[in-house]
Amino acid sequence: MLIQPRPKRSLLETVLLFEILQGMALTLKRLFSKPVTRQYPDEKRQPFLGFRGKHALVRDPQTGESSCVACLRCATVCPSQCIYIRYHEEEGSGRRVVDRYDIEALRCIYCGYCAEVCPVNAIVLTESYEYSAYDRQTNYFDRGRLLNNWDAFVKESGHDPVAYVNPFWRPRGVDEATLAGPRRRKVPEEWTRAGQPVGRLCRSQDSEVLAEGVQR
Ligand code: SF4
Ligand code: SF4
Repeated sequence: MLIQPRPKRSLLETVLLFEILQGMALTLKRLFSKPVTRQYPDEKRQPFLGFRGKHALVRDPQTGESSCVACLRCATVCPSQCIYIRYHEEEGSGRRVVDRYDIEALRCIYCGYCAEVCPVNAIVLTESYEYSAYDRQTNYFDRGRLLNNWDAFVKESGHDPVAYVNPFWRPRGVDEATLAGPRRRKVPEEWTRAGQPVGRLCRSQDSEVLAEGVQR
């Protein structure tokens, strides 16, 4: 056990309650200095580029519904297995119609795979980070809630609902022409990093650098 000796005070320091005066001086100084805390929720923080937040189903402005085609790619790729989809096939056309689309957000790890594989940009991870709730059920998003999340996000952020795409959907260094989805928004150059090696090339370059490091 660590025993700390009591600091020695002079008689004057004891009489004048020196530490209290020191504390009051510090408080007075802080009264006139710039605050280091943010007055949340009045003052909200701008998310970083590529932030992956609350899920939403993009509301198609023409139909007012989600454009999900029930291909099940998102549910298949999800490592947390927190996406549940039920659908039926329309008689005659064989078109898939979504009956249920649920995401259990509290099990999500925000990898973004669901948004990345979606061929029609129906599911997105918005930049909204406000999840606080009094019960678990609030963060179990059914189709209605996911569409509402989209409406709330568009209203709050002011993004163009047709053009919106979170930059994390765009793998860095990949040629834009090869990307799926018709509604890809231009993203800042700092994010695209044109010419950046990706995939196998990136890994091989990494191992070359590693090998050089070992030789040295
Ligand atoms: S972000 Fe990842 S873990 Fe979360 S729902 Fe999408 S695929 Fe699943
Ligand atoms: S990947 Fe897109 S279109 Fe396919 S089921 Fe998921 S949200 Fe729907």
